[in-house]
Amino acid sequence: MVSGLKINYNKSKLYGMNIEEEVSQHWAIFLNCKTGKLPMTYLGMPIGASLRSKDTWAELISKIGRKLAGWKNRFLSLGGRIVIINSVLTSLPVFLMSTYLLPAGVIQKIDAIRRKFLWGGCEERNKIAWVRWVKVCKDRKQGGMGIKDLRMFNLALMGKWWARLVKEQGGLWRRVLLDKYGGEGGSWGEWITEGQNRGSRWWKDVCKINELIEGKRDWVKSGFKLVIGDGAKVSFWRQVWVGSHTLEVMFPRLSYLSTDRQSTVQQMGEWIGGSWRWRLKWRRRLSTREQDQETQLRSTIQNVQIRKDADDRWWWRYEKDGEYTVKSAYKLLTTTEKGDEIKCLKRCWNSTIPLKICAFSWLSVLGRTPCKVNLLKRNIIRQEADAMCSFCAEIAENEDHLLLWCDFSGKIWNKNLAWWEIKYVMARSYKDAFLQHSWAGRNQKGWQVIWYATIWALWSTRNRRIFEAKQVSTDEVFHMVQ
Ligand SMILES: [Zn+2]
Repeated sequence: MVSGLKINYNKSKLYGMNIEEEVSQHWAIFLNCKTGKLPMTYLGMPIGASLRSKDTWAELISKIGRKLAGWKNRFLSLGGRIVIINSVLTSLPVFLMSTYLLPAGVIQKIDAIRRKFLWGGCEERNKIAWVRWVKVCKDRKQGGMGIKDLRMFNLALMGKWWARLVKEQGGLWRRVLLDKYGGEGGSWGEWITEGQNRGSRWWKDVCKINELIEGKRDWVKSGFKLVIGDGAKVSFWRQVWVGSHTLEVMFPRLSYLSTDRQSTVQQMGEWIGGSWRWRLKWRRRLSTREQDQETQLRSTIQNVQIRKDADDRWWWRYEKDGEYTVKSAYKLLTTTEKGDEIKCLKRCWNSTIPLKICAFSWLSVLGRTPCKVNLLKRNIIRQEADAMCSFCAEIAENEDHLLLWCDFSGKIWNKNLAWWEIKYVMARSYKDAFLQHSWAGRNQKGWQVIWYATIWALWSTRNRRIFEAKQVSTDEVFHMVQ
């Protein structure tokens, strides 16, 4: 374990902590050890109270305080204190942190203790915190001090459950979960997303980690890549196994026409004399246009090596051997968005697009266009009521709403997508949408032009509404795009 806390699982017994019974059972299977009986204490924590109750957490927090007080009278350099904080403090709640999401209040309290210790030991009087805590918690390569960020560490530890879920497709542990939470059919990603609404506290927490952090949505789910072996366990149309989207999304028309919409990759072809042949069948004869799409589909899947005697497997992208590690997950979670943002900002400047539109896209990525919300922030608009969307007048006008989410804009996007036969779920922010839009497949260049034309048409329509009081219909805007 990253924290340096080592457990000999064979010699260990696992104790249910009066939490959901299933949790301890899952842990026991997970850690390959036996379960034990209450009462017991774990790291000095009386186990018996509910993990969700304030008292239990209070006990943990005071435990950390006491642990640190032990270092109070020794002279420690700043460097020494960093080491202590990372080893002692972070290793204490590791067991809990691998099982539950620590409540925000608990993290705050633990951080307060850690902060105080970092800047001056445990004395009561307050010392000066020279650098903001957020900065302190950043990785050293990211300009921070390398103190562990508790929330991110918490998530990285809990990510192990996901790794377990994807790795052990046929495993008992997974089957128990599926039985309980009903996940037959659908991909694991789907049922784990649904799981946020049902099941035990523990299970909800496990499901939630994927979407908890703004700007890191989907970090676990998209961290795993499916590597095709014999194709027996992978749905041809409905799972992402080639490229970054399902074939159903990339070729909606063909998936509709396929006679084998539920088939696995393996069922979509056969071995003939030692080489793999795809066998695509359609419900009717394809039109010329559809035949073109079939050619595209074939060239998409052609380079995937189907192997006779290898299992399909999930590959964690951030380790060389494809195995999930807390360390790599933590790094992923604590690496700032900067890289993404720079990539995104760079991409805005497209030489085939008029400069004014590039500039507008660039401002949109940064959230600095002169839309009403920004005018309000700069006191050019005085009242919140005046900062409502120029199209629907119902929601505050920021870039995301105006360009993506507004009903008015949505209609235009839908027309575009239908026109281009693309299935696409709009991302939450302009930046994410912009980063994703370049995948759009077949005619990438063409779609990029549409993208810019659309945001520009929306923006100029908005301006004409405001400055010329001119009403423009969605059809007219769509026409402008075309
Ligand atoms: Zn609107």
